[in-house]
Amino acid sequence: MGASSSTESSSLLPSNPPQIASAVDTTRRACVFCDIARGELPHADNPAATVDAGSMKQRAGLADLNRIVYRDDTVAVFHDRHPKASLHLLVVPVAHVRNTDSLRQSAAHYALVQRMLEQGQRCVEDQVRKTITAQVARHRAQASGGTGEALSIDVDSQVAECVRQARYGFHVPPFTSVSHLHLHCLVPPFRNGIFCGLGSLEVKYRDDLPWFEAVATTLARLQPPNTAVPVVPSQL
Ligand SMILES: [Zn+2]
Ligand SMILES: [Zn+2]
Repeated sequence: MGASSSTESSSLLPSNPPQIASAVDTTRRACVFCDIARGELPHADNPAATVDAGSMKQRAGLADLNRIVYRDDTVAVFHDRHPKASLHLLVVPVAHVRNTDSLRQSAAHYALVQRMLEQGQRCVEDQVRKTITAQVARHRAQASGGTGEALSIDVDSQVAECVRQARYGFHVPPFTSVSHLHLHCLVPPFRNGIFCGLGSLEVKYRDDLPWFEAVATTLARLQPPNTAVPVVPSQL
């Protein structure tokens, strides 16, 4: 997927879907997730300015250009810069929504979060399948080179198991690292903390603790009354 051109008008929110307007913060200045979501990169002095490729590379580092896995007019999905689990993706709305406190009980906000979840699930499955397929190919190459036994593995069931274990949710204000709504999509195992005694970083993403909310809880909160019961996979 290529980056979009940076030749838009001076509007900061050219692709803001009107139906979520009540959640959109139009006062945002430089926001790294806005820049990633729109295929642009940080430009603190003038967020609306276009930047050339060389400048983009200088400001964000090549890694940033490579970490987006999906983007359309509504949502973008990219790898967390500091992954806390074997797979750690973030899904953001392209429009600048600050956090879960900006979302209200409404069909539009419910639909936005549902859309973020669906795209996150698609990307998780896609990334997991790519990783496992590559691992199997590597093992097979080693085996055919006489360095190991041929690996017999059912890729589909491995992918299904990872997908089943995936966790989706939001950090709750004030425990948000970046003030642009982002859905964490994590596939265990979780990594260990840097500091002695901190242990598994899973503690940051447990919905029985006050700083993290499972996406199913968010959706239940946003769903307007008297609407059909949403279809949320039971493992969430
Ligand atoms: Zn933003
Ligand atoms: Zn977070």
